Amino acid sequence: MQITHKFRLYPNKQQEENLFETLNLCRQTYNDLLAEFSSWDNISKYELQSVIPNLKICDSRLKKVYSKTLQYENYRLFSNLISLSKRKKKGHKVGRLRFKGKRWFKTFTYNQSGFELINTGKRLQTLHLSKIGNIPIRCHRNIKGTIKQVTVKHMQSGKWFASVTEERKQEIKQQPINKIIGIDLGLTNTVYDSDGNKIVNPRHLKKKAIKLAHLQRRMSKKKKRSSNRNRWRIRLARQYEKLVNSREDFLHKLSRYYVDNYDAIAMEDMPIPNMIHNHKLSKSILDSCWGKLRQYISYKAEWAGKLYMPVDYKGTTQRCSQCGKLVPKELQEREHKCSNCGFEVPRDYNSALEIKRLCLQKIRQELPESTLVEMESISHQGQILSLKQEAPCVS
Ligand SMILES: [Zn+2]
Repeated sequence: MQITHKFRLYPNKQQEENLFETLNLCRQTYNDLLAEFSSWDNISKYELQSVIPNLKICDSRLKKVYSKTLQYENYRLFSNLISLSKRKKKGHKVGRLRFKGKRWFKTFTYNQSGFELINTGKRLQTLHLSKIGNIPIRCHRNIKGTIKQVTVKHMQSGKWFASVTEERKQEIKQQPINKIIGIDLGLTNTVYDSDGNKIVNPRHLKKKAIKLAHLQRRMSKKKKRSSNRNRWRIRLARQYEKLVNSREDFLHKLSRYYVDNYDAIAMEDMPIPNMIHNHKLSKSILDSCWGKLRQYISYKAEWAGKLYMPVDYKGTTQRCSQCGKLVPKELQEREHKCSNCGFEVPRDYNSALEIKRLCLQKIRQELPESTLVEMESISHQGQILSLKQEAPCVS
């Protein structure tokens, strides 16, 4: 499996100049390749790659960049072309690929070779990048596998990061299923789980989002293209980075909690809150939390040999988790009150229980029963029947 870590780089003045120069030359190469590509009716990836040596003859500065890093720009160009044609096939309106201006080009990549991570035994390690130098790097995680790729990124805030992709050869052992949890993702940034835990977006995230909105308003009043505005742009970018970082931190901890404590984790398969289209940047960062949470839980579960189970979201809020009766409710109704069996709980808690029930049902149908240790009331009465009917073909 492949894992990518993001580590901060601490280049000195000279190294930073080299990084900027590499970035610039890669951008130039990308644009030159795009121009070359556009001048042909049909040219393959390999044919276009053979143009690079000619570019080097025309501009000797390109020799300052590691050759495979330049080749990567060709790869990048073609993967952009592929995603463009995919969008076109899906019926999106697409234009042509554009030449990249400085603001739109922030990364360059070392693939397979030209880099080395050197353990110094100190707080900062060293990342050796061919033709650039030895840059101090802060690795807050151990690399256990072999490094396949390093992508250097310059952030709006002025910081430099390296995305280090490692390949780990590790057998994943499937864990037996003892504990199952259903998680309901609420619209108001609340998570409710079937063990009755309610988790709200932490207050410090909200505070940071408010500060971000404030900075954004202040910046919008500054004169366009002034150096003052530029200072505000950097301040804004730093605040944005802070917000994103603490959001990631919160989501990593939350997903870790569920994967460590449960063997099967069920969530709705619904396309998440982008349904509420939000133009406010800070708000949209908070809203995007739950989509990411699902993503983190699913990959962490996979690595731990645990089960991530998406279940059908339709009806989970309306159906009573205890008896299966449909209890229609409006969006603002926060309580679930079943007139059939008398079950009364918060609305989201009922959904979480229902999600868990659906998960148990799916496990029964899709996995051999021996892996399922927890055998509690799997279904409400209405569905025990249908399960029994299906039983012959299951067993
Ligand atoms: Zn009921």
